[in-house]
Amino acid sequence: MLGRASVLVKPNQLETWDVEIADPEPGGALVSIVLGGVCGSDVHILTGEAGEMPFPIILGHEGIGRIEKLGAGGTTDYAGEELKAGDLVYWSPIALCHRCYSCNVLDETPCENTRFFEDASKPNWGSYADYAWLPNGMPFYRLPDNAQPEAVAALGCALPTALRGFDRCGPIRLGETVVVQGAGPVGLSAILIAAQAGAREIVVIDGSPIRLEAARTLGATVAIGLDVLPDERRRMVYDCVGRNGPNVVVEAAGVLRAFPEGVDLTGNHGRYIILGLWGAIGTQPISPRDLTIKNLTIGGATFPKPKHYYQALHLAVALQDRLPLRALVSHRFGVAGAGEALALTKSGKTIKAVIDPTVS
Ligand SMILES: [Zn+2]
Ligand SMILES: [Zn+2]
Repeated sequence: MLGRASVLVKPNQLETWDVEIADPEPGGALVSIVLGGVCGSDVHILTGEAGEMPFPIILGHEGIGRIEKLGAGGTTDYAGEELKAGDLVYWSPIALCHRCYSCNVLDETPCENTRFFEDASKPNWGSYADYAWLPNGMPFYRLPDNAQPEAVAALGCALPTALRGFDRCGPIRLGETVVVQGAGPVGLSAILIAAQAGAREIVVIDGSPIRLEAARTLGATVAIGLDVLPDERRRMVYDCVGRNGPNVVVEAAGVLRAFPEGVDLTGNHGRYIILGLWGAIGTQPISPRDLTIKNLTIGGATFPKPKHYYQALHLAVALQDRLPLRALVSHRFGVAGAGEALALTKSGKTIKAVIDPTVS
């Protein structure tokens, strides 16, 4: 059997290939792709900014698929739910080895033996494709019957990433005040989680009017544009949350200059959680004394664990009728339209684009 796949042959060279689709291995599954999420990090992979990749690779690490075949002996998903052909699943794209220091001693991700990509000619879990072959150990979870796939795909891997960040750096507590730098999918996810956790004020800072509007629909109480200068932004934040400053600041902007501003914005005894600077290589000056004077905690997190994908799935389904999650999926492209999808994502003119193989 053959299926189409969007293959990155080398940086900036994307081709649509017909690839051989293999039967699943024991513990794994073969799924037909329903939605493949287009992620900001895919743009960095496309251009080569994300570093050396084992080209050629099939792009896409966010997916919802329909079970075509389960590997021998498989009757459940990775949370023990019964599963059969035709069911929809959402997966964590990182198979853990369970044979390394991070997996077995620290109980942390990333696993030291993780393979993010496989050669496009081999069985492959890239989601910009007609099919994904999920290997043994790549956790997949059944979507509840009432789930809206678009609501689950809307925030992509950003929702598990934000859940991972709060898990690592401390959850939002009832009545806390929060500032979120950046309203891309990671920032929107942080806003959603903060609102659901009972934050009193959630201030969002971003340059895009459509993103600020989306932030409001998910629970932001104050939106500040980047046309407002930093000193004025600080005044507006402190006017909103009070003279002690925000309890939590989340960096989801992905630009280096957000870092010193975030340290400065974070209130006394506050926490500053770094999620967006994954792809931003470089340094920035801060005053270390601020950390002692204000008793700050600064933490970062990356690579969600399987449980964060499970939590994200069920959080999205629980909220799908109360929040306009589905509406965040603003653009759909077929497998052959992946280049266009990535260009649009790079332009910032979309909230979430998806690959939908039924689109021709
Ligand atoms: Zn491992
Ligand atoms: Zn992603």
